[in-house]
Amino acid sequence: MASIILESIFLKRSQQKKKTSPLNFKKRLFLLTESKLSYYEYDFERGVSLWGCWPHTSTKHGDEDVPGSPLWGSFKPVVYDEGPLYVFSPTEELRKRWIHQLKSVIRYNSDLVQKYHPCFWIDGQYLCCSQTAKNAMGSCLPASPCSLLSLAVRKMVMKPLPPEPAPSAAGEMKKVVALYNYVPMNVQDLQLQKGEEYLILEESHLPWWKARDKNGREGYIPSNYVTETSNSLEIYEWYSKNITRSQAEQLLKQEGKEGGFIVRDSTSKTGKYTVSVYAKSAVDPQGMIRHYVVCCTPQNQYYLAEKHLFSTIPELIMYHQHNSAGLISRLKYPVSRHRKSAPSTAGLGYGSWEIDPKDLTFLKELGTGQFGVVKYGKWRGQYNVAIKMIREGSMSEDEFIDEAKVMMNLSHEKLVQLYGVCTKQRPIFIITEYMANGCLLNFLRETQRRFQPAELLEMCKDVCEAMEYLESKQFLHRDLAARNCLVNDQGIVKVSDFGLSRYVLDDEYTSSMGSKFPVRWSPPEVLLYSKFSSKSDVWSFGVLMWEVYSLGKMPYERFNNSETTEHVIQGLRLYRPQQASERVYAIMYSCWHEKAEERPTFSTLLGSILLPRALGLEGLIWEGRPQ
Ligand code: ADP
Repeated sequence: MASIILESIFLKRSQQKKKTSPLNFKKRLFLLTESKLSYYEYDFERGVSLWGCWPHTSTKHGDEDVPGSPLWGSFKPVVYDEGPLYVFSPTEELRKRWIHQLKSVIRYNSDLVQKYHPCFWIDGQYLCCSQTAKNAMGSCLPASPCSLLSLAVRKMVMKPLPPEPAPSAAGEMKKVVALYNYVPMNVQDLQLQKGEEYLILEESHLPWWKARDKNGREGYIPSNYVTETSNSLEIYEWYSKNITRSQAEQLLKQEGKEGGFIVRDSTSKTGKYTVSVYAKSAVDPQGMIRHYVVCCTPQNQYYLAEKHLFSTIPELIMYHQHNSAGLISRLKYPVSRHRKSAPSTAGLGYGSWEIDPKDLTFLKELGTGQFGVVKYGKWRGQYNVAIKMIREGSMSEDEFIDEAKVMMNLSHEKLVQLYGVCTKQRPIFIITEYMANGCLLNFLRETQRRFQPAELLEMCKDVCEAMEYLESKQFLHRDLAARNCLVNDQGIVKVSDFGLSRYVLDDEYTSSMGSKFPVRWSPPEVLLYSKFSSKSDVWSFGVLMWEVYSLGKMPYERFNNSETTEHVIQGLRLYRPQQASERVYAIMYSCWHEKAEERPTFSTLLGSILLPRALGLEGLIWEGRPQ
């Protein structure tokens, strides 16, 4: 069986059609294996509803033996030919993950590399090398090839699709719209007003961008507070980008409010939107739900059930918030998966990594860790923060302070954000994002309610996302475990304390023979030669998955540290926790390959976790988050 490295649904431009029109873009399932890239047609009518009902037996498709899966019944294989392939990814993150994997699989394939053009063929020539023949060999190879054939995986452009998928002209400034209000935290920052447009003057990899507002004011803004203008529906509470029809139904039923509604991307009609509405019913105690596709006239006017035309979708929604006009109810309550609260910023203002302790108020003690007491408090009286008060002698402070500037630029929604440090006094403080539900280990052990398999999987996915980000930055965690993850008020799990172990001054913790060394989370090469790598983090992630599925049990609980080391080196592995299905266990088990290079990357792991096919029902039942 060819093992599948990645599997995603993308928007694919037709091979045959000369002209680019929205009709020529179709959703296709793409599979990447070591030997080939293939794509499949997907029957949206049957696809989702039939998941879970198909037998889990092995199915043959062409020359590839694929694991038995409910999904396969809904896909029709299409032969992949070697023409230019234009593919649009729904998210930037997914695009990056694919490009990363593609790079890796074609690394040694000189045949493919020759055909490679990094840019598009537009206006009769390749933008990269100006050759005019469409089948010209790629004479414009970059140091490392970053595409398969002429595969151009770009951000999915929502309706209307572009006339030709071309990269934006050089020098053209990016326009963004603010998703949240942002109040400047220091003089270099620029205020953001939710819904307003801004021009990006300087876009770097850093989490702060230089922007200009409509009044010509300039300053730095947190890049995670804005979105490109083409996706501007994201600013509305009623818009949920990535939810399916059945998830929308579940949310609306849970809420159970007359007139509850969600606007989402249509599952069956690419580039279109659907409004899902809930109304109470005299016959059905569960209520009724209708899904209305937002229609568009040839003149680009939008309408719903009856022809009340509007030039934008927000105008259309606003109209139906006041008039049912043919709908089962007027749109009374926007329903969404998570409260759209503003995310953390990478630091308390651009460039502010030294925090004035006078701006901190201490409110309560949260716990004690390796470095001492951790307190909950406020910064300038309004922002929640956690304050680690570093016990003198417990940390090599100067080294940490140097590194803190780098760590501040690590910013991801599933990483506990480092806000800054107070280093002008002793003890020094480390200021981070506050996580109201405390550490994941206690959360798993103490919560009285039963977690659904989908909730446990969601926790692992959160951690895997953060780790994929760290992996992409070539940053090692070195002490990944449930005790080093925290849970926020919305039940989202985030990874904490990344890289901190390097600054611990305690032999019991730093030596692999020490009593505090995370032996139970360590692979053989760390136990034997202290060889840390992203793949040793992958091993620890497998153990963390095991902790999650065993609700906070101690790994290898019957053994002490030296017995554990001995057993792990001899090839003993953790057993399957009761709550983990065979498929979930297979994922964690893959992290414990004796040879580090045989373990999957976080990017591959995330692909497996997201794959409903690999997970049986876990990936399909959507339960929301524990509160
Ligand atoms: P250390 O890094 O010094 O070992 P920990 O990070 O383990 O300390 O913190 C000790 C305890 O404090 C944790 O178990 C957790 O309950 C609490 N805690 C730490 N950081 C936060 C935070 N950011 N938000 C909420 N609680 C926290």
